[in-house]
Amino acid sequence: MSEHRGVWAYSENKDLMLELLGKGSRLAGKLQTQLTAVMLGHDIKKQVKELIGYGAHKVIVVDNPQLKVFHVEPYLSALTQLTKQHKPELFLMGSTKRGKELAARLAARLNAGCVSDCLELKVDEQGRLLAERIVYGGNAIVTQVFRTKPQIVTIPRRRFEKLKYTEESKGEVVDISDVQLEVAKTEIVKVKPIEIAETRIEEAEVVIGGGRGLEKKEDFKILDELAQILGGQVGYTRPLVEDRKWFTEWVGLSGHTIKPKLYIACGISGVIQHVAGIRDSKIIAAINRDPEAPIMEMADYIVIGDLYEIVPALSEALRKLLASS
Ligand SMILES: Cc1cc2nc3c(=O)[nH]c(=O)nc-3n(C[C@H](O)[C@H](O)[C@H](O)COP(=O)(O)OP(=O)(O)OC[C@H]3O[C@@H](n4cnc5c(N)ncnc54)[C@H](O)[C@@H]3O)c2cc1C
Repeated sequence: MSEHRGVWAYSENKDLMLELLGKGSRLAGKLQTQLTAVMLGHDIKKQVKELIGYGAHKVIVVDNPQLKVFHVEPYLSALTQLTKQHKPELFLMGSTKRGKELAARLAARLNAGCVSDCLELKVDEQGRLLAERIVYGGNAIVTQVFRTKPQIVTIPRRRFEKLKYTEESKGEVVDISDVQLEVAKTEIVKVKPIEIAETRIEEAEVVIGGGRGLEKKEDFKILDELAQILGGQVGYTRPLVEDRKWFTEWVGLSGHTIKPKLYIACGISGVIQHVAGIRDSKIIAAINRDPEAPIMEMADYIVIGDLYEIVPALSEALRKLLASS
């Protein structure tokens, strides 16, 4: 029998951490083991209670000044020491840039397997963990099992639900803050904030997607207007960012994965790389003048026509509707 026991969760992103605890708690139940939250940083101890309230049976805290700013080496050395000492069987990590870097490096140090950007995780009848992820540019979903432990998995935002917070939950706290950490090999000399939308696109309940069907950057004001009426955000396809250099982030396989209640694709063909990022939207509506566009196959509502006529008309109709209600 394996000496590895327990499900662990770690992300530097708080919301994602709570989602990992939600999934981790269900998996720990199936595997009949404990769920442990790992906290790394500086001056973080006050967050322990919240992690217990969201499902962690145990919290391992490494609260160290060397972890105040993210550098991969000290973070990685903390995680390596913890996993070598405590031997979890499954380690769920957030699929953020930092999380993916840490997970891959940790797997290399432990000579363990790593599945990144996991869509679904299940335990089969034999107790094996089945990890699903998208491959071949979004054309297939592969199911993988691990041959090594710990099984390291990274999970994107909004894949799984967090549990309901329980104030009375009790859990064990293990403080390993005096651990020796590796020194960072790089130094941050400048931090330049970039402009970000008030709500992250992954959080938006309504997303109005714009693609190459919009001819000029200024034309996006018609989508902005519709998004404002519906209390949503505008998202973009990759060519608008990579080729036209109009925006900084895109939705899709190589960009953000979103899960809004409503996605309205305007002037977007809906090829597989874009669809990979929107397939979990509750309702998809498409406005496109080409009835053969691939987006038509997956859309719940279709409007065939010119977006330059339809989008302003839709905004106008919604405005009237809201004014009369
Ligand atoms: C490795 C790789 C990763 C990629 N990752 C991503 C990704 O993450 N996200 C992503 O978006 N793309 C990604 N792409 C690019 C992707 O393959 C497509 O090129 C891209 O999604 C197409 O963008 P689009 O729909 O805006 O443009 P197009 O495919 O050119 O579609 C424009 C659509 O607008 C319609 N249209 C034109 N004018 C109007 C009008 N006036 N009214 C109504 N409809 C109109 C057209 O009928 C057409 O369907 C990736 C590509 C590769 C190779």
